[in-house]
Amino acid sequence: MNVLVINCGSSSLKYQLIDSASEKVLAKGLCERIGIDGSCITHSPEGGEKTTTESPMPTHTEAVKLVIEKLTDPDVGVISSLSEIGAVGHRVVHGGEKFAEAVVINDDVIKAIEECNDLAPLHNPANLIGIHSCQELMPGVPMVAVFDTAFHQTMPKKAYLYGLPYEYYEKYKVRRYGFHGTSHDYVSKRAAEILGRNRDDLKIIVCHLGNGASISAVDHGKCVDTSMGLTPLEGLIMGTRSGDLDPAIVSFIAEKEGLDAAGVVNVLNKKSGVLGLSGGISSDFRDVGAAADSGNEVAATALEAYAYRVAKYIGSYTAGMNGVDVIAFTAGVGENDKAMRAKIASYLGYLGTEIDDAKNDVRGEETVISKDGSKVTLMLVPTNEELAIARETVRLA
Ligand code: ADP
Repeated sequence: MNVLVINCGSSSLKYQLIDSASEKVLAKGLCERIGIDGSCITHSPEGGEKTTTESPMPTHTEAVKLVIEKLTDPDVGVISSLSEIGAVGHRVVHGGEKFAEAVVINDDVIKAIEECNDLAPLHNPANLIGIHSCQELMPGVPMVAVFDTAFHQTMPKKAYLYGLPYEYYEKYKVRRYGFHGTSHDYVSKRAAEILGRNRDDLKIIVCHLGNGASISAVDHGKCVDTSMGLTPLEGLIMGTRSGDLDPAIVSFIAEKEGLDAAGVVNVLNKKSGVLGLSGGISSDFRDVGAAADSGNEVAATALEAYAYRVAKYIGSYTAGMNGVDVIAFTAGVGENDKAMRAKIASYLGYLGTEIDDAKNDVRGEETVISKDGSKVTLMLVPTNEELAIARETVRLA
């Protein structure tokens, strides 16, 4: 069966068509600038050339229409008609406490996703528009929602409650939810498989280090803690997000800079993290790394602060699980940045593990990167959220 995986952002739509039997990507692409001038679709068929076409996309419905046109195009397409799409898997960011796993989409599910809108006001409405557009253009094709929050729903109360008045949890569901769940689930499972072990027998820490970054503790197959919170702002220092800080900083900066709370939170989301800490060099680790290598001390300190935060989380999750067997690195930075992996590993000697520089000299490949005989195994495990969504879609559809 061919599964179309859809990931809608507020002005973008990423897609992949995956043949579930071979798990091969038949085509993938991206619609950008939906709802604004200059919208374009970039389409890459397997083994073919990437093409970018400008085309008006006032809404996500036109974007989905274009995706279907590209997939069925006689030149750049990979299927001959819509009937070759057996199911659609939608990435949905926030499932609140309602969804602990993926579900087949029906009217009740749509209503429940809508009820989570105020927990993810930028993401869930866009995800819903994607669902509605696909339903309109592909009537009768089964659709599945795969939630970023679902894998973390096994966290115990002690991990997901904040030290706030309990009524805020009762009234508004203010709690830790966590994100990147599809990736944490996939990578922890894959890490165990690569080692020829069962995930249910292991204590695994997954470091998803992309532009957004989060870390999770997976104890015997279940997520027991994760660093992102009510929103993706909490936890690690990220590309542009601050991660953890003293909450009193919000009112302090608001007063000094003449901003309201939302204005400060915007700074914390978009102008902070490695971008802010490096004095504005870049949110991209390649640029900040290059600056550090050429002697820029502010850039070097930003990277050191980033690594230190990851190492502190590894320490706290090791305490939370009373041990750790495997630490897996994934996503853009985790898969590609050997210097950052080595920097983080330099804090982990107390665990009886040491990075192997030769094995760590690798990008984007499933590899053990710790020295033989290490008590804790360090690994690089590339994530594949689209494949994980396609698998869930096939399982349910
Ligand atoms: P997201 O999905 O959150 O947008 P990714 O997982 O794709 O992010 O990660 C993107 C980030 O990965 C980039 O911002 C960049 O900092 C980092 N990255 C990609 N390639 C490299 C590399 N070769 N060296 C260091 N960092 C890299």
